[in-house]
Amino acid sequence: MKKIVIAVDGYSSTGKSTLAKALAKKMNYIFVDSGAMYRAITLYFLRERIDWENTAAVNNALKNISLDFEYNAEKGKSDMLLNDENVEAEIREMLVSEKVSEVAAVKEVRAFAVAQQQKMGVKKGIVMDGRDIGTTVFPNAELKIFVTADPAERVKRRFKELYEKNHNITIEDVQKNLEMRDYIDSHREVSPLRQADDAIVLDNSDLTKEEQLEKALKLVKERIN
Ligand code: C5P
Repeated sequence: MKKIVIAVDGYSSTGKSTLAKALAKKMNYIFVDSGAMYRAITLYFLRERIDWENTAAVNNALKNISLDFEYNAEKGKSDMLLNDENVEAEIREMLVSEKVSEVAAVKEVRAFAVAQQQKMGVKKGIVMDGRDIGTTVFPNAELKIFVTADPAERVKRRFKELYEKNHNITIEDVQKNLEMRDYIDSHREVSPLRQADDAIVLDNSDLTKEEQLEKALKLVKERIN
């Protein structure tokens, strides 16, 4: 069967990863969470106190970063490895969420991540979710889905997810963080978050995960046949 590249983009906490992961499972494709890569780079910069406004410091730091995905059979998805250390849990914490959009706006950081993402797609049979997958990473992707959801619903979903791990978090923290990231992501100079001209919009505000997956699978089948 013909293998294709599927790009899933959208604002924060719209359920992109959930959809991309489920699609990859159904199609037996590789799933790549590109946001995890920006999160891991941010974690490294925070730990090593790298000033990301200093280009020389960023370039030097990037030379010391290796990013890999390691399949976690229990979760049915890959964990993020930063220099061989499993940082999957740490990169989801608020400390990283608060800075990741600033780091992801740095030109050199994007070039570093995008080059690796493009390599992963050479053989096709991949679903990648992010902000610029359909516009920059895979502009020729056979299928581009732009996921949207009602902002209040997104905050609710994200809060639920984070609260399970950290009871100190408030709904206001989550709302502020999502608004801030969406603003920076869509206003940055290098590959800002925007819907690709040929992307299909999927609003999942009132859809269950299964309904969302069904709609996306229909689009995939159309592209394959
Ligand atoms: O997808 P996730 O919310 O984990 O991504 C974290 C951050 O990484 C985003 O808010 C954005 O700043 C950045 N990102 C990006 N381009 C991507 C994926 C993520 O700039 N393709």
